[in-house]
Amino acid sequence: MKIMSINAGSSSLKFCLFDMNNEEVLISGNFERIGIEGGIYTFKYKGEKIRVEQELDSHATAVKILLEKLLELKVISNLEEIEGVGHRIVHGGDKYTESVMVTDEVVDDIIRFSDYAPLHNPAHAVCIKAFREVLPKTPMVVVFDTAYHQTIEKARFLYPVPYSWYEKYHIRKYGAHGTSHRYIAQTLKKELGEDDLDIISCHLGNGGSVTAIKDEKCVDTSMGFTPHAGIMMGTRSGDIDVSIVPYIMEKEGKSAGEIMNDLNKKSGFLGISELSSDSRDIEEGIKAGNEKCILAEEMFVNSVVKYISQYYVLLGHVDAIAFTAGIGENSPETRAAIIEKLACLGIKIDPEANNVRGKFTKISAEDSTVAIYVVPTNEELMIARDTLNIINR
Ligand code: ADP
Repeated sequence: MKIMSINAGSSSLKFCLFDMNNEEVLISGNFERIGIEGGIYTFKYKGEKIRVEQELDSHATAVKILLEKLLELKVISNLEEIEGVGHRIVHGGDKYTESVMVTDEVVDDIIRFSDYAPLHNPAHAVCIKAFREVLPKTPMVVVFDTAYHQTIEKARFLYPVPYSWYEKYHIRKYGAHGTSHRYIAQTLKKELGEDDLDIISCHLGNGGSVTAIKDEKCVDTSMGFTPHAGIMMGTRSGDIDVSIVPYIMEKEGKSAGEIMNDLNKKSGFLGISELSSDSRDIEEGIKAGNEKCILAEEMFVNSVVKYISQYYVLLGHVDAIAFTAGIGENSPETRAAIIEKLACLGIKIDPEANNVRGKFTKISAEDSTVAIYVVPTNEELMIARDTLNIINR
């Protein structure tokens, strides 16, 4: 059974076609610069990379090319072979607590929730419409990044601001990266063969979030009303005192939008290092003795430790700490620096085991009070699994 997993951004479309009999990836790829000059798409198929430069005026064009290519490469012999399409959706507001089948009402809701995710939700809706046009009979499912966090209790998802803001404007914590954290919880349950695990999942990529998980359910997460909150990130500040915003607006004569742009795109690793948002550049800088890179890394580590220690107390007992995403999976140095600061809790890393990248591995020391794992995330597979489950229901 072939299921397509789709992740559309404002100018991009990533896809992955799975054979769900063995969860094998048949083909994957990426369309970039949709609606912008210089369109390009790449396919990974049978160990080869195909790269084509072609103007892509809309998501509909990208979808059309994608399906034509699948037929041309004989990945499928007819379109009916794709038995389901799963779409990743950044924001499902507080209405969607799990993945659902696509209907007209669902598409309208995705558009309605665009206020919360202005760059993503409109693109998701456009992409779903494009797929529904070319595959009108194929069942489609949407997988919301926010849904996983809907189990957070009210005393944790509310902000201590006028209650009417929540009633009138739904101001509350929504979280993000839910699909990744849910995958981590499922994978650890399967690998360890245990139910009821208490987990702290650290998704450390260009964007990052830490989530406290009890028995596969989210108890709390570091991202908030938007993906801006929580730990320090590549270009995002994470948590700051909100009074900084009007203060800098006045000092620099900037609008709120301009300050938000600074906080979203010019802060985090980039803002502090004044060099790069990419942790690999920061690691190079540290090796060269660049003081701002050393400072940026220390601030990042501190921000992650702050959330892990908070969630340790919240959960009361932790079975596993998991590291995932670009930095979490690939930076032994960052993992070691984080765990070193948790020594007072008896949490210890095994330096040899920690010397690993992108592979499921237990990296804690024998006598660590909490097991530590590197768990490569796979949001595409999670989307395909949900799609299959819902179609079969
Ligand atoms: P996102 O999905 O949020 O764009 P990723 O999960 O791809 O982010 O993570 C990007 C981050 O991961 C970057 O800071 C990058 O430097 C880091 N990263 C990726 N690969 C490596 C690696 N091999 N070693 C160290 N860091 C890495």
